[in-house]
Amino acid sequence: MDLFEYQARDLFAKHGVPVLKGIVATTPEEAKAAAEEIGGLTVIKAQVKTGGRGKAGGVKLAKNPDEAYEYAQQILDMDIKGHTVHRVLVAQGADIAEEYYFSILLDRANRSYLAMCSVEGGMEIEQLAAERPEALAKVEVDPLVGIDSAKAQEIVEAAGFSAELQPKVVEVLVKLGDVFKKEDATLVEVNPLVQTPEGDILALDGKVSLDDNAEFRQPDHVALVDKSAENPLEAKAKQHDLNYVKLDGEVGVVGNGAGLVMSTLDVVAYAGEKHGNVKPANFLDIGGGASAEVMAAGLEIILGDEQVKSVFVNVFGGITSCDAVAEGIVKALEILGDSATK
Ligand code: GDP
Ligand code: MN
Repeated sequence: MDLFEYQARDLFAKHGVPVLKGIVATTPEEAKAAAEEIGGLTVIKAQVKTGGRGKAGGVKLAKNPDEAYEYAQQILDMDIKGHTVHRVLVAQGADIAEEYYFSILLDRANRSYLAMCSVEGGMEIEQLAAERPEALAKVEVDPLVGIDSAKAQEIVEAAGFSAELQPKVVEVLVKLGDVFKKEDATLVEVNPLVQTPEGDILALDGKVSLDDNAEFRQPDHVALVDKSAENPLEAKAKQHDLNYVKLDGEVGVVGNGAGLVMSTLDVVAYAGEKHGNVKPANFLDIGGGASAEVMAAGLEIILGDEQVKSVFVNVFGGITSCDAVAEGIVKALEILGDSATK
């Protein structure tokens, strides 16, 4: 799950990463009130789960509450790379002396963590990596250790921070490492990490992706889910612990085992080409040895999709006995009653 910037900032604050005060607003009036509360220079920032907001006009410095109102009005409802802005973050504005880049992420290919850091922040990191790869330090981080002081020191030296700055940056990197490890994140990125004219280090932006597989030990993360963006059928499937993904065709698909269901989707789509491009409506894996109740829950979700005109059940009789599944379908239809036969 990717987080909004304001949620990432909250996690940063929780682990002691220095951030400035921020208030979320959904209307220009709220933005104005927030700017009044914060006082002085504020930054009005579009809250969308995509980068490059600054370039798209989604980040604006407001000198006073009236400007905050005006910019919020411009930014709210704006479309940034296909994401509609529903909220802005009104953040206390920082004076920036220098901008840096830092990230730590899950490095699947190397079965490890990777930290990246540069004293040339601010610009898009993909561009920096392509044009001046030597300016982007890449340091492997042992997943069993994380970012301790020694590792953070290695990172700041590789990135080329001045000796004077190193201890301050080390302190912040250790805390960002805490966010990554303790929150079970797969990505923590700060661009820009800045130094103010007073010499303080601040995280001015934050991008965090959390590992959904760690949900069981991160009860607080449920509250971070953006319900408005969630597909209602997928949300319902999740409640039933079903592996369901909504697609946009009209043939509902139920199978057991992810591989079989994926192949079934391909076959349905392939066969559908001869019938005016009929396509599968969903992925649904009911798993091995599914009960009538599981089948009922699955069918209920599939039939709740208004686009569905037919359902294709493809169950492999391995550890699952097919007569039990057939009985499951009959029982499911009984449980569902009228709603299934409409
Ligand atoms: P992004 O474009 O989506 O990465 O959004 P950022 O939060 O990184 O903001 C874009 C740029 O706006 C930053 O690189 C900064 O140069 C600038 N910016 C953001 N916050 C502040 C702030 O508090 N003060 C100043 N002076 N500039 C800021
Ligand atoms: Mn940024």
